[in-house]
Amino acid sequence: MSEKPKLAMYWAASCGGCEISVLNIGDKILTVDEIFDLVFFPCIADFKHHDLEAYPDAYIDVCLFNGAIRTSENEDMAKLLRRKSKVLVAYGSCAYEGSIPALSNLTTKEATFNTVYFENLSIDNPDQISPQVETEVPEGLLTLPSFYNTVKSLDQVVDVDYYLPGCPPEPEQIWAVLEVVANALINDGPLPPAGSIIGAGTVAVCEECNLEKNVKSITHFYRPYEIQPEPGLCLLEQGLICVGPATRAGCGALCPQVGMGCRGCYGPLDGVEDQGAKMLSAIASVVGVGDSTQEEHELEAKINAVMDTIADPSGTFYRFSMAHSLLRRVRANGNGKKEVS
Ligand code: SF4
Ligand code: SF4
Ligand code: SF4
Repeated sequence: MSEKPKLAMYWAASCGGCEISVLNIGDKILTVDEIFDLVFFPCIADFKHHDLEAYPDAYIDVCLFNGAIRTSENEDMAKLLRRKSKVLVAYGSCAYEGSIPALSNLTTKEATFNTVYFENLSIDNPDQISPQVETEVPEGLLTLPSFYNTVKSLDQVVDVDYYLPGCPPEPEQIWAVLEVVANALINDGPLPPAGSIIGAGTVAVCEECNLEKNVKSITHFYRPYEIQPEPGLCLLEQGLICVGPATRAGCGALCPQVGMGCRGCYGPLDGVEDQGAKMLSAIASVVGVGDSTQEEHELEAKINAVMDTIADPSGTFYRFSMAHSLLRRVRANGNGKKEVS
């Protein structure tokens, strides 16, 4: 049997971008192949569930788990991979914080099914058929995983050793992490403390961004197609939403460098529990509608008018962090209780 460390990668509720991101490390992928034995990686080779089940517990040295927990199958695989892996890494924003799949926590499972299977203009479903967990057919019982009402992050169903943020993580960060892990496994090198966020910085994206900030106040927010940003100047100060002030650095401020506001994919800064709330506070500091000499109701109306120019605030401020946020999901039952199912 090979003595190389064993590497696994698995996707749950994901778009596939995280799997592709591993290829972005370029020819270092050959080094990964030299260093590690790939023992479970269904995206690139024909590994089966029973292969994984047959491994002894803790057989896999490191498992990169991407995607959120959307279904019972996602949760079962998370639990199985946790048992089979010494080190489990929440790889990418979906595993880390729910990310795009968790935006459906703004609605309900029923509403999602209605849109996907009945109301979408491209759907032809005259018999109103939707997925069932169990379906009797002449040949026997067919089963599907159950679809949860609430999308969870990986650490909301199993213990996670490390978090590698990004949508997807950037190649240099991925390689840096793989190098550290390989060094620890092969040479008994140091591993970061358990629970660390690895492959990312500790300051905000703004600190990595070379666009000039003039501390301007703004009275209107624009969507990217509505204005041509002035080159070299902070996008937020030009009225383009940029979540850089509330987002962990590590990507090199990639998006602002090409005229797109940061979307927040590296997640919140250390000590920030709720990335969306942190961003709202940053927005509040740049909105300028008057001063304390004005009547409170006038100021309030002006602030509301500015905030109304932000399209989809919850989707904008919680695009990557909904499952980990204080909101976690919107109330779906209308009884005033935060739903955590
Ligand atoms: S983190 Fe981004 S790239 Fe990775 S699976 Fe989620 S949506 Fe796709
Ligand atoms: S708000 Fe955005 S554009 Fe402005 S400095 Fe920060 S990261 Fe750069
Ligand atoms: S600038 Fe923001 S959204 Fe873009 S890659 Fe960096 S952290 Fe992610």
